[in-house]
Amino acid sequence: MRHVAIIGSGPAGYYTAEALQKQFGEDVRVDVIDRMPVPFGLIRFGVAPDHQSIKAVSRRYEKVALSDNVRFAGNVLVGSDVSIPELLGLYDAVILATGAPDDRPLDLPGSGLPGVIGSAAFVGWYNGHPEFADLDPPLATPAAAVIGNGNVALDVTRILAKTPAEFVGSDIVAHAFAALGNAAIRTVHVLGRRGPHQIAMTPKELGELGHLEDAVPRVELDDFPPELDDALLEPGLRKSVSHLRDFARLEQGAKTRTITFDFFARPVAIEGEGKVERLIVEKTRLDERNAAVGTGETYAVDCGLVVSCIGYKTPPIEGVPYEADRGRFANSDGMIGEGLYCVGWARRGPTGTIGTNRPDGYEVAEKIAADLRIGQGRKAGRPGLDRLLESRGVDVVTFRDWQRIEAAEAARAREGSPREKFVAIAEMLGARGR
Ligand code: NAP
Repeated sequence: MRHVAIIGSGPAGYYTAEALQKQFGEDVRVDVIDRMPVPFGLIRFGVAPDHQSIKAVSRRYEKVALSDNVRFAGNVLVGSDVSIPELLGLYDAVILATGAPDDRPLDLPGSGLPGVIGSAAFVGWYNGHPEFADLDPPLATPAAAVIGNGNVALDVTRILAKTPAEFVGSDIVAHAFAALGNAAIRTVHVLGRRGPHQIAMTPKELGELGHLEDAVPRVELDDFPPELDDALLEPGLRKSVSHLRDFARLEQGAKTRTITFDFFARPVAIEGEGKVERLIVEKTRLDERNAAVGTGETYAVDCGLVVSCIGYKTPPIEGVPYEADRGRFANSDGMIGEGLYCVGWARRGPTGTIGTNRPDGYEVAEKIAADLRIGQGRKAGRPGLDRLLESRGVDVVTFRDWQRIEAAEAARAREGSPREKFVAIAEMLGARGR
């Protein structure tokens, strides 16, 4: 029997659990450990609440979670309730699937001003992450600036630009739904330090901005290279650029909100008296390697909220080798050291879609299978962890508990919403009905 612990119950964690099942069949016991009392990580706390079709992938993870040889152990904080060396003593393999929940810092003068928020915090706030429930972003402002030209910037922009009616069918958390409904924001500036051909926005997500109820995206065609050059782009990017060009044809009409794309716009400072009032932006051009270089010309973008969407990083864990510049664990094709592996964003850094984690997890499962020292039957595995956690008074949440929490969330949902999320950990634990 092989005993494997996976730390993190997001997509990378569950695809890896699935891969281990396929690899070892009945000959494996997998514990999926999470610091949260609720599973699915990025699916619950990262994927935008109005993208329910993406969130539906959790049903696949649920199948894995409900099988006999995989169990969910929530409300267990690795590093505090149990250490990595302890887990390595209990399991044949320990796999870090901890994702990349921390913001890459926006290192600018003024970036500490109130009203400057990282996307991890902002996304966590509208998705009901317990750590960010009290964020209270300043929304009583006519303009917001979103820094970055990736899909997270798109999510944040869309959420800021939607009307309450457009959240029907979403699982946006109640506090964010109410606050966004009362927001004064009429302009969202989306700032990219490079040009339209360098965006990291995928076509389906970008196209959504062209169909919002009360907001119109605006671009300056002067920022674009000649249209013939679009043919040289890979098909996905070409489609995204074609959406951007189409935006130039849209009329404001009776719509009251505008999404303004500022390309070749690199933020250099944030200013304001006690809170953010404006972003200072330097115009850029591309050098021969397509990197942004400053032109020295600056302008100000008035705004009362700045959301920085410039990428994420994996939080380091004491004693585990870490590559600070790439924001991930130091690893060789998923292997960190003897018995210790990583998958997903903790392995690769924060790039790729949810589906990218599947081959990643399968590859690491194969690596584990190839390690001959694994599966000698000498490790205590699950019963060993349970004894340890019980002796420390840790209140472990099972998948059955989660199903009760989920049922309670569904029971209190607003009309048209799949659930009304609990935000406080105590509420989640209480909803188990024990
Ligand atoms: P991303 O795709 O890497 O985009 C980060 C953006 O931030 C880039 O435009 C980058 O510009 C810019 N940036 C980085 N450092 C900057 C700085 N110092 N100043 C100004 N701009 C800076 O990251 P992401 O948006 O966080 O997304 C992470 C991953 O999740 C991506 O693979 C994304 O596709 C995925 N995701 C997918 C969905 C979806 O499918 N619906 C939704 C959300 C996220 P440069 O290119 O110039 O570096």
